[in-house]
Formats: sequence, structure tokens, C-alpha cells
Amino acid sequence: MKFDIMTLFPECIEAVLSTSVIGRARSNGVINISTHNIRDYSTDKHRRVDDTPCGGGMGMLMSVPPIAACHRAIIAQAPELKTRTVYLSPQGRTLTQSIAKELTSYDRLILLCGHYEGVDRRAVDLFCDDEISIGDYVLTGGELPACILVDCVSRMIPGVLSDNECFEQESFMNGLLEYPQYTRPIDFEGSRVPEVLLSGNHADIEKWRYNAALELTRKKRPDLL
Ligand code: SAM
Repeated sequence: MKFDIMTLFPECIEAVLSTSVIGRARSNGVINISTHNIRDYSTDKHRRVDDTPCGGGMGMLMSVPPIAACHRAIIAQAPELKTRTVYLSPQGRTLTQSIAKELTSYDRLILLCGHYEGVDRRAVDLFCDDEISIGDYVLTGGELPACILVDCVSRMIPGVLSDNECFEQESFMNGLLEYPQYTRPIDFEGSRVPEVLLSGNHADIEKWRYNAALELTRKKRPDLL
């Protein structure tokens, strides 16, 4: 899968998405992440990419022409790919595991990161298919939300994790939170790993995990049930 990220701060994206599981998946060629500096598409002699809001008001807005040129250049690189363009926005639908799963059906995601007061509305209406928020709060830019979206979608792409079961059994995938997990030492200052997990009886372990997941979900997130 290919991710093309349109941003004014490509270094923020690289700082987050170059290490660990995602960094390895990039090196192995399972996913491809490219950043595109919107400023490179400015035709202004000072490479300006923003302007004051029409009608007045605080701050600066990212203007349409450089975003349009950047988006068109990305599409032109591979017009045949099944693509969805997403604007990361506090006004979008809130990211969930099922939205991330839905996005894995595309060959390419183009992500638009806003900054300052946001972007001229026409950039969204003309070039984006979707608006996604990472929660009901406002950040300074769309770079961290874009990284969160890329991370969440990528781990559902075959080959990114060592085993698909890793994400298939995780919280939200079957409508429940994940059961509690333990590792060695078996006894930590008198606090022991539940005996059933040491029994070697897989049927009993499965049953315990299901009931524990149900109980946890009932306590922490009854809205999921
Ligand atoms: N003026 C905008 C508003 O009130 O809706 C907020 C702009 S915000 C300061 C700048 C950029 O950060 C946005 O264009 C968006 O790309 C990004 N952003 C901020 N909060 C976000 C969130 N919760 N989810 C996704 N993107 C967000």
C-alpha cells in the first residue's frame, strides 16, 4: 500500500514513521510512504503557501493553488491506483479501527495535513474524498494525526506485523477490548499470573480469555457491547 502525505513539515512525518514496525515495513517494501512538501508547489517568489482569511479573522489559512498542484502531481505519478484522499481535520469523522480497516481496501491513501488555522475549504471540497479526525481536540497541525492514521492502517496490511493474528485478536477487532496479558516472572512480589494461563490447556485458556475480555469491556467500555 502506498501513502502519499502532503504537508508543510515532512520532517515531522519522517521522525515518527521511520522506526520500529513501520520503519521495518517501509524498508521491506510492504508499505511505501512518501512525503510531499506543499511549499515546493508554491509559485510565489517567496514560496508562500498561506494567506489571511477572507472576511477577516485570526491567523493564516493554507491556500488552494499549492495544494492543488501537489495533489495533481501525486495522482499523475500513478493515475491507475485506487486512491482515497483524506484531509486530517478536527471536523472529520472520528478515526476507529473499522474506519482504518475500510481504508486498507485502497491501493493508495493521499493525506492532506493542515496547519495554522487550517486550509481553504475549496482544497477539501475539490480534492478530498474524506475528512478524518483523531479526536475532539485541536492540534497545531495534521502531521501527528496523519502518522496515527498511517500507523493504524498499516498494521492491518499483511506482512507489516509478523502474524495477522497480532491485530485480529486485538482490542476493537471483535467488538471487545483485549483480555489481560502477562509475561514472566510468574510471581512478582506475590502478584501471580492467573494459574489457567500456565495450565497448557488451550480450550480453558481460550475460554478464560474470552470471559476476561467480556468482563473488561463491560467495566471499561460498556458502549462497545
Ligand atoms: N481552525 C480549525 C478548526 O477550528 O476546525 C483548526 C485548525 S488546526 C489548528 C490546524 C490543522 O491541524 C488542521 O487543518 C488539521 O489538519 C489538523 N488537526 C488539528 N486537530 C486535529 C484533529 N483532532 N484531528 C485531525 N487533524 C487535526
